Amino acid sequence: MAVPRNRMSNARKNSRRSHHAKRPKLTAKCPNCDSQKLPHTACSACGHYAGRSYQATREG
Ligand SMILES: [Zn+2]
Repeated sequence: MAVPRNRMSNARKNSRRSHHAKRPKLTAKCPNCDSQKLPHTACSACGHYAGRSYQATREG
């Protein structure tokens, strides 16, 4: 395993971790049934996406 040659300063360590903050979960509102859903996915409640229903194609 590689071993670091020099100690990393607190400032450098913390600036690397400046991008690690947790962000709130992305949600979008379904235009068909107004429930919360993931963006760019079909609605889990009614199966609509892009103005069409994909519920009937869910077989196999
Ligand atoms: Zn929906």
